[in-house]
Amino acid sequence: MHEPEYLSGYHSLKEKIQSRIESKDKFFSLEFFPPRTKGGAVNLLARFDRLREGDPLFCDVTWHPAGNPGGDTETSSLTIAGAALNYCGLETMLHMTCCSMTKSEISHHLQRAKEVGIRNILALRGDPPMGHDDWVAPEDGFSYAADLIRHIRKEFGQYFVLCVAGYPSGHPEAASYEDDLHHLKEKVDAGANFIITQLFFKAQAFIKFVTDCRAIGIECPIIPGIMPIQSYDSLRHIVNLSKLDVPQDIIDVVTPLKGNDEAIRNYGIHQTTTLIKELFRADMAPGVHFYTLNR
Ligand SMILES: Cc1cc2nc3c(=O)[nH]c(=O)nc-3n(C[C@H](O)[C@H](O)[C@H](O)COP(=O)(O)OP(=O)(O)OC[C@H]3O[C@@H](n4cnc5c(N)ncnc54)[C@H](O)[C@@H]3O)c2cc1C
Repeated sequence: MHEPEYLSGYHSLKEKIQSRIESKDKFFSLEFFPPRTKGGAVNLLARFDRLREGDPLFCDVTWHPAGNPGGDTETSSLTIAGAALNYCGLETMLHMTCCSMTKSEISHHLQRAKEVGIRNILALRGDPPMGHDDWVAPEDGFSYAADLIRHIRKEFGQYFVLCVAGYPSGHPEAASYEDDLHHLKEKVDAGANFIITQLFFKAQAFIKFVTDCRAIGIECPIIPGIMPIQSYDSLRHIVNLSKLDVPQDIIDVVTPLKGNDEAIRNYGIHQTTTLIKELFRADMAPGVHFYTLNR
């Protein structure tokens, strides 16, 4: 007979987060992307091993439909997530986007994730292919992350802990900030267990976002996504990709340091620690999620 989970000592990520909220013991988590080469994958796994010593609550691996759609290559999202879980012993969450897959392809990837032992999915719509503003979902596919959440709950019940993305400045395509919040609530109502936010630079943005979420009845944990600034180019790349504005005071510091990566990294550490202290002082964040860029 299969032993019920509550007797097996298994604690889901949802329970771990809840327990850390109750004990007020702040946690951190780390996001990685799958490297392009085998050598990169070997380096990343060695890094996982070292990072584990810092005791992150979980790590997560991004999903890239255009490159390695969770297939069988040595460096796919699923393979890296499986290795983080099974070889490095890290609680692991796999991202999954849905906008370029059919329902059966999505179910296939989820089934494979289940087979390697993954219990946590960050369910996303993903970005439509570049230059396709008139994008429509595949006939047998999904238009929004909320559809993916409903699909996962229907096909896999409560097996997976589900996370979704939240946007403190509103998602760039949203009709309005309020409209986007409403769609975030739809994802939570569909069965998401917690939220990780898009990166932001000022504590006030997160504080307002959480306050607004709570006001419309979003009650699940909301974890702030933070990207320590590591170089001028990576900052520019990420903000372009995410369509974010960098506050002027940060631009004023970073621009003259262009080319001096060490100075920018030192500033990034200062800016990040200041931000986290403000978030913790406001008592709004149960922990922090770092966009590591694999560094
Ligand atoms: C924490 C985090 C992790 C990410 N990881 C990845 C990754 O691994 N791989 C990747 O490719 N991308 C990733 N992204 C980027 C993400 O895929 C894009 O931001 C994408 O454009 C939106 O995905 P979503 O799940 O937030 O979409 P959704 O929640 O579906 O929202 C998309 C847009 O549609 C609107 N909307 C939602 N429902 C409706 C509705 N019913 N009617 C009308 N409008 C609606 C929303 O307001 C929003 O503007 C990540 C983003 C974050 C914040």
